[in-house]
Amino acid sequence: MEVYEIVDPLDIMMNLEQVIPYYQPVVSADTRQVIGYEVKAYYLDEEDEIQRLDWFFKDPSIPHDFQLEVNHWIQQKALDHFISIKSDESLVLFINYNAHLLYKDDGETLLSLLQSYEKKGLNLNRIVIEIKEEQITEEMDSLRQLFKYMKTLGIQIALDDVGKTNGNLGRLTHFEPNIVKIDVSFLKDDALPHLYREVHYSISMLARKIGATLLFKGISTYNQFNYAWRNGGRYYQGRYLSPSKPHFAEIDSCKEIIERDFQLFVNYEKKKMKAQLELSNRINQQFSTTMQDIKGDAPYDEIIFTVGHACSQFAFRVYICSDEGIQLSSNAEKSKDGNWELHYEGRQKNWSWRPYFFENIVRMNVEKKGILSDLYTDIERDEQIRTYSYPISDNKYIFIDIPYDYLYEQEGLL
Ligand code: CA
Repeated sequence: MEVYEIVDPLDIMMNLEQVIPYYQPVVSADTRQVIGYEVKAYYLDEEDEIQRLDWFFKDPSIPHDFQLEVNHWIQQKALDHFISIKSDESLVLFINYNAHLLYKDDGETLLSLLQSYEKKGLNLNRIVIEIKEEQITEEMDSLRQLFKYMKTLGIQIALDDVGKTNGNLGRLTHFEPNIVKIDVSFLKDDALPHLYREVHYSISMLARKIGATLLFKGISTYNQFNYAWRNGGRYYQGRYLSPSKPHFAEIDSCKEIIERDFQLFVNYEKKKMKAQLELSNRINQQFSTTMQDIKGDAPYDEIIFTVGHACSQFAFRVYICSDEGIQLSSNAEKSKDGNWELHYEGRQKNWSWRPYFFENIVRMNVEKKGILSDLYTDIERDEQIRTYSYPISDNKYIFIDIPYDYLYEQEGLL
């Protein structure tokens, strides 16, 4: 954390020329090039120290008019700079704007500013307006109308910090932004981002449906970059790739690091896929051997009991379901001391509502082989597990739950 002398907001208002725009590059996965820059306000104090001014725009005790004036100042400086340099016509400028200030005057201040630059040759397609999702608390419909209008002018809309506060994913479909920004700066290397991943996964699916591009920001480590890549991020931003600078960074300035890391990401994923395939094969083999010893008309509970014993090394629960999702057997479960027991209460439960259930049934029927599930949290054990499912006949399937301990010991299965 950087600590600064607190600057009096009035000092800032009196010394506007010391407020200067910095630019943080946004890079794209497909070209590995910079596609644009986000404008950030910095302040050069009396000691020639530079500090970020984001607190100035967040502090509710600072009058709106002050914020509006500083914002206007910084935007003008940035736009002057943007149109003055001969740059690639596809580069865009990300400008932060407060949602409250925006609907207060129905976007008039912003639009007249942008249109004054349009007269000087600015193509409005090159402007992205960033609105923080958490600031959208009222006037949802008039804001939506305004966004819609701005988009007809060519301006792109980015929703910033999506999913940060009590994720209201409905806003994504309501506003249909062009870009969705997700902050990953809080993901620490040692913490398992598993549950965030589910939230981000939903956001990425929704973004895909409405045709929005996902941008991960706040990337300051290799792991955060990897996370962004694995979760469908097309655009990236953060000091791991490039810090904010008082000038526009070169288009290829992040290419080397992106290409090197992408290579590492791909290698790692390949290793993971291989590990999963190997586990599938191992279980498959174990299976066919065990199934040979089981008579075709054996009772379900006898089958799961035998399979549980045979797969004891990597299984803690085994059961059989019909193709309609009805559990036909009991649960065979491994107790703490390693013995297998039958739990009858599982019988006749309906699992058809579970995500991917039918998709997997159809896949097993077509491919005639077992499937290893993704990682998910088992409600009873409250731990992450995987399930291996296998077709034992045309309409019956056996399910084998694999515990966290086992997955943890094998490389590439978590
Ligand atoms: Ca922003």
